[in-house]
Amino acid sequence: MRIVLLGAPGSGKGTQAKLLTRKYHVPQVSTGDLLRAAVRAGTPLGLQAKAAMDEGRLVSDDIVLAMIRERLSHPDARKGFILDGFPRNLAQAEALDAMLENLGKPLQLAVLIDIDLDILMQRMTGRRTCESCGQMYNIYSSPPKLEDRCDVCGGNLRHRADDNEETIGNRLRVYENQTAPLIDYYRKQGKLRTVQGLGEIEDVFAAISKVVEETLAEETTAPSAAARAIGAMKKAAGKKKAAPGTAAGAEKQAARSKSQSKSQSKSQSKSGPKSRSAKKAASTKKTVTKKTAARKAASTRQAAAKKASAVKKTRVKGAVTKKTTPKKQASTKKVASKKASVKKTVKKKAAPKKKTAVKKAAPKK
Ligand code: AMP
Repeated sequence: MRIVLLGAPGSGKGTQAKLLTRKYHVPQVSTGDLLRAAVRAGTPLGLQAKAAMDEGRLVSDDIVLAMIRERLSHPDARKGFILDGFPRNLAQAEALDAMLENLGKPLQLAVLIDIDLDILMQRMTGRRTCESCGQMYNIYSSPPKLEDRCDVCGGNLRHRADDNEETIGNRLRVYENQTAPLIDYYRKQGKLRTVQGLGEIEDVFAAISKVVEETLAEETTAPSAAARAIGAMKKAAGKKKAAPGTAAGAEKQAARSKSQSKSQSKSQSKSGPKSRSAKKAASTKKTVTKKTAARKAASTRQAAAKKASAVKKTRVKGAVTKKTTPKKQASTKKVASKKASVKKTVKKKAAPKKKTAVKKAAPKK
């Protein structure tokens, strides 16, 4: 499990990270804790970091990233980690992504513990931490039984040097300007989940556990967050109308024509028999009309040439005409199918006049 806890200073990231550690058996990695340890130990890195920490500014990215790289290389971090207080700005978030990508173990989840900034001041000024076991208290909301003594191990409780009003003000400003943009950063990656930070510690923890469980369940059944992000991008692209001429446009066009021709052939096959008999009837009526015209023409001596041609046509269609009177449509079908050549001729000649014939035929029906 690889998680980042996001939230303003005092939102409860440290407390929740400890609970998650106990439940999921992965280490809490807190850059604040690592820096404080370095300051206490008086290492060169600690001395460098101290001034920034005392003023509530961010320690340089180089120092913090070197610390994180070193910590994540420990064996206990192989099965996962809960990052608390890191990343604190976009450069750190991008460096973390690159680091985890190299390991082939991308971040799975970023949980934002959302809380009103006004409440944070009281929370932070009341904060006390056990020097021995790290247990956290708040003299306002969750005080120890004995003043300045840890309930768990009896160790000394310490008030953090940077938990004074001036420094807290600076830290909250730094959070707003530099860390809050990470909310959008992880939202765009499809990895952000938000829980409300107000209320009992157990309730907040239950809400965080729920999103962790959901994420783990999704990972086993669904594509990864990266695949989801790609899916979301594709979906967004699909919503934009595919431009004609583009591959997507061509694909859509092909799909449309396919479904059109399918539905056409369906409707054609549904209306097939009716169409054929209608055609036959129309063809019969056309022939009758032509025959009449030919007879009239024949009776007109001035149209000898027309008469001859009309007679020819009548002869060709004669077989059909005789058999395609409305009474004998059924037998016409058989004859027509047997005499393919005759049928072809009839169709060819009848085709251009189909519409007229149908129109004419309709009132008779
Ligand atoms: P925290 O305990 O997380 O509130 O951190 C205490 C102080 O350590 C901060 O106010 C910063 O000065 C410094 N710090 C902790 N984490 C980082 C980080 N990721 N980047 C830069 N500075 C940090």
